[in-house]
Amino acid sequence: MTRDEFNNRFRAYKRQWLRIETDGLIVVALFTLAAFLLFPHLVHLCFEEPHRQERERFAALASATLGATLAAFGALMLVLVWWCRRCTPRSFGLLCPSCGAPLTGTNRKALLNTGECGRCHGRILDDGGGPPPRAL
Ligand SMILES: [Zn+2]
Repeated sequence: MTRDEFNNRFRAYKRQWLRIETDGLIVVALFTLAAFLLFPHLVHLCFEEPHRQERERFAALASATLGATLAAFGALMLVLVWWCRRCTPRSFGLLCPSCGAPLTGTNRKALLNTGECGRCHGRILDDGGGPPPRAL
Protein backbone atom coordinates (compact mmCIF):
# COMPACT_ATOMS: atom_id res chain seq x y z
CA MET A 1 0.00 0.00 0.00
CA THR A 2 1.31 3.46 -0.80
CA ARG A 3 1.15 6.39 1.58
CA ASP A 4 -1.50 8.09 -0.61
CA GLU A 5 -3.67 4.96 -0.60
CA PHE A 6 -3.38 4.74 3.16
CA ASN A 7 -4.23 8.43 3.60
CA ASN A 8 -7.27 8.11 1.31
CA ARG A 9 -8.50 5.04 3.20
CA PHE A 10 -7.94 6.77 6.53
CA ARG A 11 -9.89 9.86 5.42
CA ALA A 12 -12.81 7.62 4.35
CA TYR A 13 -12.56 5.83 7.72
CA LYS A 14 -12.70 9.17 9.59
CA ARG A 15 -15.75 10.27 7.55
CA GLN A 16 -17.48 6.99 8.46
CA TRP A 17 -16.71 7.58 12.15
CA LEU A 18 -18.09 11.11 11.94
CA ARG A 19 -21.37 9.64 10.62
CA ILE A 20 -21.38 6.98 13.37
CA GLU A 21 -20.77 9.60 16.07
CA THR A 22 -23.47 11.87 14.66
CA ASP A 23 -26.00 9.03 14.53
CA GLY A 24 -25.03 7.95 18.06
CA LEU A 25 -25.51 11.48 19.35
CA ILE A 26 -28.97 11.61 17.80
CA VAL A 27 -29.92 8.27 19.40
CA VAL A 28 -28.67 9.43 22.82
CA ALA A 29 -30.58 12.73 22.44
CA LEU A 30 -33.79 10.90 21.52
CA PHE A 31 -33.37 8.47 24.43
CA THR A 32 -32.81 11.38 26.83
CA LEU A 33 -35.85 13.19 25.47
CA ALA A 34 -37.99 10.06 25.88
CA ALA A 35 -36.75 9.66 29.46
CA PHE A 36 -37.66 13.27 30.27
CA LEU A 37 -41.10 12.81 28.74
CA LEU A 38 -41.80 9.51 30.52
CA PHE A 39 -40.37 10.36 33.93
CA PRO A 40 -43.22 12.69 35.03
CA HIS A 41 -45.75 9.99 34.17
CA LEU A 42 -43.86 7.47 36.31
CA VAL A 43 -43.70 9.95 39.19
CA HIS A 44 -47.41 10.64 38.80
CA LEU A 45 -48.17 6.92 38.93
CA CYS A 46 -46.00 6.51 42.02
CA PHE A 47 -47.28 9.41 44.10
CA GLU A 48 -50.91 9.71 43.03
CA GLU A 49 -51.79 6.19 44.05
CA PRO A 50 -53.90 6.45 47.25
CA HIS A 51 -52.79 3.14 48.77
CA ARG A 52 -49.34 3.11 50.30
CA GLN A 53 -48.48 -0.46 49.32
CA GLU A 54 -49.46 0.14 45.71
CA ARG A 55 -47.49 3.40 45.69
CA GLU A 56 -44.36 1.64 46.97
CA ARG A 57 -44.86 -1.14 44.43
CA PHE A 58 -45.12 1.41 41.61
CA ALA A 59 -41.99 3.22 42.86
CA ALA A 60 -40.00 -0.04 43.01
CA LEU A 61 -41.25 -1.08 39.58
CA ALA A 62 -40.43 2.34 38.09
CA SER A 63 -36.93 2.32 39.62
CA ALA A 64 -36.24 -1.21 38.42
CA THR A 65 -37.53 -0.42 34.93
CA LEU A 66 -35.54 2.78 34.67
CA GLY A 67 -32.37 1.11 35.98
CA ALA A 68 -32.71 -1.88 33.67
CA THR A 69 -33.39 0.38 30.69
CA LEU A 70 -30.35 2.54 31.41
CA ALA A 71 -28.15 -0.53 31.92
CA ALA A 72 -29.38 -2.11 28.68
CA PHE A 73 -28.87 1.14 26.79
CA GLY A 74 -25.34 1.53 28.18
CA ALA A 75 -24.48 -2.09 27.31
CA LEU A 76 -25.88 -1.64 23.81
CA MET A 77 -23.81 1.50 23.28
CA LEU A 78 -20.64 -0.27 24.52
CA VAL A 79 -21.22 -3.21 22.17
CA LEU A 80 -21.86 -0.85 19.26
CA VAL A 81 -18.69 1.16 19.94
CA TRP A 82 -16.63 -2.04 20.31
CA TRP A 83 -18.11 -3.49 17.12
CA CYS A 84 -17.58 -0.28 15.14
CA ARG A 85 -13.98 0.09 16.35
CA ARG A 86 -13.24 -3.49 15.27
CA CYS A 87 -15.15 -3.60 11.98
CA THR A 88 -14.67 -0.18 10.45
CA PRO A 89 -10.85 -0.48 10.05
CA ARG A 90 -11.39 -3.86 8.40
CA SER A 91 -14.00 -2.54 6.00
CA PHE A 92 -11.60 0.19 4.85
CA GLY A 93 -8.58 -2.12 4.55
CA LEU A 94 -6.87 -0.54 7.55
CA LEU A 95 -5.66 -3.73 9.22
CA CYS A 96 -2.05 -4.88 9.26
CA PRO A 97 -1.72 -7.76 6.75
CA SER A 98 0.72 -9.54 9.10
CA CYS A 99 -0.86 -9.35 12.55
CA GLY A 100 -4.33 -7.86 11.94
CA ALA A 101 -3.81 -4.81 14.18
CA PRO A 102 -5.92 -1.79 13.25
CA LEU A 103 -3.79 0.86 11.54
CA THR A 104 -5.51 3.64 13.44
CA GLY A 105 -4.60 5.52 16.62
CA THR A 106 -0.99 4.99 17.71
CA ASN A 107 -0.42 2.36 15.00
CA ARG A 108 -1.23 5.02 12.39
CA LYS A 109 1.44 7.33 13.79
CA ALA A 110 4.00 4.52 13.79
CA LEU A 111 3.02 3.58 10.24
CA LEU A 112 3.37 7.14 8.95
CA ASN A 113 6.74 7.61 10.68
CA THR A 114 8.36 4.28 9.83
CA GLY A 115 6.23 2.62 7.15
CA GLU A 116 5.85 -0.37 9.51
CA CYS A 117 3.10 -1.75 11.72
CA GLY A 118 3.33 -0.37 15.24
CA ARG A 119 2.70 -3.83 16.75
CA CYS A 120 4.60 -6.41 14.67
CA HIS A 121 6.89 -4.07 12.69
CA GLY A 122 5.85 -5.71 9.43
CA ARG A 123 6.47 -3.59 6.34
CA ILE A 124 3.21 -2.02 5.09
CA LEU A 125 3.97 1.14 3.11
CA ASP A 126 5.70 0.66 -0.25
CA ASP A 127 7.33 4.09 -0.35
CA GLY A 128 10.14 3.32 2.09
CA GLY A 129 8.59 4.87 5.17
CA GLY A 130 9.63 7.99 6.98
CA PRO A 131 7.69 11.21 7.16
CA PRO A 132 6.52 12.71 3.87
CA PRO A 133 8.95 15.14 2.24
CA ARG A 134 8.34 18.78 3.07
CA ALA A 135 8.69 21.73 0.77
CA LEU A 136 11.67 23.94 1.53
ZN1 LIG B 1 1.23 -5.84 12.35
